[in-house]
Amino acid sequence: MIRGMPITVHLPVPLGLALGLLVLVAAGASAGDLPGIPGARRDSSGRFLNTVGDIPTAGPDVTVPFFFRKMIASATGRPGGPAIVPNDGAFLRENARHSEPTVTWIGHSTLLVQMDHASFLTDPIWSERASPIAFAGPARRVPPGVAFDALPPIDFVLVSHNHYDHMDLPTLRALADRDPRTRFVVPLGNATTLAGAGIPVERVSECDWGGRVPVAGLEVVCLPAQHWSARGAFDRRLALWGSFAVLGPARRFYFTGDSGYFDGFSRIGEAFGPFDVAAVPVGAYEPTAMMRPFHMDPEEGLRAGRDLRARRIVAMHHGTFDLTDEPIDEPPARFRAAASAAGLGPEAALVLSIGETFGF
Ligand SMILES: [Zn+2]
Repeated sequence: MIRGMPITVHLPVPLGLALGLLVLVAAGASAGDLPGIPGARRDSSGRFLNTVGDIPTAGPDVTVPFFFRKMIASATGRPGGPAIVPNDGAFLRENARHSEPTVTWIGHSTLLVQMDHASFLTDPIWSERASPIAFAGPARRVPPGVAFDALPPIDFVLVSHNHYDHMDLPTLRALADRDPRTRFVVPLGNATTLAGAGIPVERVSECDWGGRVPVAGLEVVCLPAQHWSARGAFDRRLALWGSFAVLGPARRFYFTGDSGYFDGFSRIGEAFGPFDVAAVPVGAYEPTAMMRPFHMDPEEGLRAGRDLRARRIVAMHHGTFDLTDEPIDEPPARFRAAASAAGLGPEAALVLSIGETFGF
């Protein structure tokens, strides 16, 4: 378990830019150039845009009552939560050498994936809170599915965007300290935040949408998602967000990060599908006036997985932190119902327990 928060160093802009360029040079990241998947555009103020351009956000008539409701919910607590199965990590550590293809749900959007003789993590968070401060903010409802110290060696880490429930600097720093070989792949503009947490820039690869990063014998392709970024009040959309395809000789895996439903999923499916596994977010969708453009509901998550041409669609981003208005247990129940209505069984549309490992 990781405790404590490092001090986030906000670098002055010229230094940040210089560091960013250094990262691009040092880590050999490529720019976006895939047909049909152009690199991310920016607006006149230099802020990144979604593929459909700027998306208006909900006004204070929606956001203020929402934050008030969440304050009450965090003080009083709400019922529900995913099932938990014990996982001491022994099989996963042994499997790092044999590499049976597996996915393990640690919680929220944190997955441990083993395929093609590599082990990697998605949006790893082992902290007690998804928050800039250690004593307040959304608290973990369930323990991580595998203890941090029980993990196998991690070859690389994918971080989809800089929101606190996805870019958890204490966890990233601990992963960097634990193994000097672990590498980090982030969308453009995020390396400076990792550098500020003490992660050496030469271990971080930044990429634009369409950029490809070779790592641990696999190819990571940075791809669009429909979302946004911010860690403070003044950095909205200054760092890019995205999703990732991980392509190996024997397996293909897709990680959505956070995204609203958009037509990019079918374009990604055409370019890189079929995927053996696609991990899709299915929680954090109410109030819809605020969340709809940026988060999927369970039916949209399932549809995204089908657009991606995924053989197995794994539901994530639910049950771990209480972030939004929908009941805690609603996302997996609706995901199962939507899958059943679409004729997909539990082997094709998976709701995992915390700590559960499945082979693929
Ligand atoms: Zn997010």
